[in-house]
Amino acid sequence: MTQVLMVASEAIPFAKTGGLADVVGSLSPTLLAQGEQVAVLMPRYRGISVQGLPRVYEDLRVWFGPDCYVSHLYRAEHRGVPYFLLDNPALFERDGLYQDPNGVDYPDNYLRFAVLSGAALIVVRHLFRPQVIHCHDWQAALVPVYMRTRFGLDPTFMGIKTLLTIHNLGYQGLFPPSILPKIGLDPGLFRPEALEFYGQVNLLKGGLIYSDAINTVSRKYAEEIQTPELGFGLDGVLRERSDVLSGILNGVDYSEWDPRVDRYIAARYSAEDLEGKRACKADLINELGLSTGLETPLIGIISRFAGQKGFDLIEEIAPRLLEHDVAVAALGSGDPSYERMFTDLAAAYPGRVAVRIAFDEALAHKIEAGADIFLMPSRYEPCGLNQIYSLRYGTVPVVRATGGLDDTIDTDTGFKFNGYTGEALLEAVRAALAAYQNREQWRRMMLAGMRKDYSWSASAIEYAAVYRRLVE
Ligand code: ADP
Repeated sequence: MTQVLMVASEAIPFAKTGGLADVVGSLSPTLLAQGEQVAVLMPRYRGISVQGLPRVYEDLRVWFGPDCYVSHLYRAEHRGVPYFLLDNPALFERDGLYQDPNGVDYPDNYLRFAVLSGAALIVVRHLFRPQVIHCHDWQAALVPVYMRTRFGLDPTFMGIKTLLTIHNLGYQGLFPPSILPKIGLDPGLFRPEALEFYGQVNLLKGGLIYSDAINTVSRKYAEEIQTPELGFGLDGVLRERSDVLSGILNGVDYSEWDPRVDRYIAARYSAEDLEGKRACKADLINELGLSTGLETPLIGIISRFAGQKGFDLIEEIAPRLLEHDVAVAALGSGDPSYERMFTDLAAAYPGRVAVRIAFDEALAHKIEAGADIFLMPSRYEPCGLNQIYSLRYGTVPVVRATGGLDDTIDTDTGFKFNGYTGEALLEAVRAALAAYQNREQWRRMMLAGMRKDYSWSASAIEYAAVYRRLVE
């Protein structure tokens, strides 16, 4: 049994903007069930009620030079996992997790998550002594930096190991060099072998250098980030640490994402009885005001609207795609230019293209169940969850062969294309549309996908093995 403290900026059911929240919220109870001892530290954002929760630490003081940030810690529990919620209204009581409602990053994000990382060390000192601190993304990357620099001689932290998980290398926490003293770090760390990155401070880079082990969320992505094409300038650092870098695929939570038990969808179904999927499709067509019939293949898209996700390819091929008898149901929000692209498409093809600009959990489930094809043409994809959900819902994925998309989709369960071009995407979608016309072939593909098992247990075993290697 290993004692593990996870430090993360989001976790379901408390706060979520993306896959990271699913991972932290699902991996931790699975590890617990397998006998590890796990606790999670995360911020208490607006919207997380602490009413009735015990306050387990008063006046938690994080000092950065002369500045002191005073927080309280509340203890919550979810699926048996203790959560320490860091309560500091000045830092976390805001509209968004990282950005204001206009999509602009909060200017003090470096400070907010430096306080989270500093608080982790106080939790370790006073509340929960782990053998491993498992840090997620740049928001927690300062934990190993503090441990190995500021507190390098502090006996409290000797023998404690750190693992840093990269959920998306595209987000690194880049700030001007002037922040270093404000977050309690020696300005001498502003050098290329430490936190300097092309004239800026790179918090993720600090974590990559000072942590004991690193992993990312698929094997393919672990390889890709060591190349200049997908290394975001950190490929050299990652190559240097390749001996401690591994890829562990995310699992999915089938208690939430399985048409057998899904509480959001119009009818339940399974690999043994597919009948309900038609009702789900009819329900989705109705909800989105599409005018196509049940025989027309329906393509689903659920995504953050970000450059990473390959929407420029969709824009490029849309007119040619829509020459086919096909309908599109898209759900997402983010970059206004992609939001506009989808609303323009919906206006140009009324009844055939429907888009909802929103973050809508229920609709996400309905699209997974109601669509025939799921489209994910990402430029890069560390793991990706929606294509794995799609498999279980018998919604055949069309994906670009990158990162976790390549690791989770095979030729018997979906369609893959390699080059990042509109032509390659169009060819893959056309292959899917042709296969759809062959009922028996399509059914075989649906069933092959539905029988795949990407539950958390296998991934949790791999994480536990990494922890064990670290503490041995
Ligand atoms: P990423 O973490 O890059 O956003 P993933 O595919 O790993 O991509 O995870 C995305 C998660 O967020 C999935 O659980 C997906 O269902 C959910 N999601 C993304 N956008 C929306 C949306 N607009 N409405 C509801 N859920 C969404």
